[in-house]
Amino acid sequence: MAATLAPIPPASPASPLARARSAARAASAAVLDLLMPPACAACKEPVATPHGLCAACFAGLPRLPHPLCTRCGEPMPPRGLVEEVCLSCRDAAPPFASARAPFAYDGPARALVLRVKSGREELAALMARMMWAADPLPAEGILVPVPLHRWRLLARGYNQSALLAGALARLSGLRHAPELLVRTRRTRSSRGLSRAQRHANVAGAFAVPPALRPGVAGATILLVDDVLTSGATAAAAASALLAAGAGSVHVRTFARVAREVTQS
Ligand SMILES: [Zn+2]
Ligand SMILES: [Zn+2]
Repeated sequence: MAATLAPIPPASPASPLARARSAARAASAAVLDLLMPPACAACKEPVATPHGLCAACFAGLPRLPHPLCTRCGEPMPPRGLVEEVCLSCRDAAPPFASARAPFAYDGPARALVLRVKSGREELAALMARMMWAADPLPAEGILVPVPLHRWRLLARGYNQSALLAGALARLSGLRHAPELLVRTRRTRSSRGLSRAQRHANVAGAFAVPPALRPGVAGATILLVDDVLTSGATAAAAASALLAAGAGSVHVRTFARVAREVTQS
């Protein structure tokens, strides 16, 4: 992929200023934890331990109903004969080898995603533990978060996907390499866009810096994001990694927008 990289530094890790702001927020959150009774990370009801879920939210986590498409991870209708790949993947397989998420983007799972993006960055550790418990990572691979554009990184102060990937690295012992993937341009919000428009919006928006391509060659990449919606962002990021020589790309998100959701 011939993408222009020159003026844009890696979107993650965060700048020193963003790290300082992030540390200040974490410190004030720690002080608040001492002053306030611990609250459920999703609904704010009182709980026994900080940064956990209350029993109702834990029970209400919208787990994805099986069977799942072995490629894109979309729940499929149960059938007598096991269909391994969904119709959409049979029509046009995505560039990533697999996509998995423990939860549908709904209920307490949606609340956690919204809160981790709104200043509650410490929730990433809890969310990563839930991802790890649901779907342990392979023994080999490099964890690469979906990068934010630098302007959004400056505004938020941190990339929640990089926090998830970092926490997964600590749990798994795999390498976390946020520098391997950068945004080459800013993309507009995908809200209100059709599926085709979402793909066009992010096409070519990611690249591997040329100097880092040897580190990607032949590697299994575990691409980490908070939510998979249309799959357009994951597909564009996976395409950039594959164009740089990655052996395969597996997408891991905390939640996904699914066609069918059941509580179990
Ligand atoms: Zn709760
Ligand atoms: Zn599929």
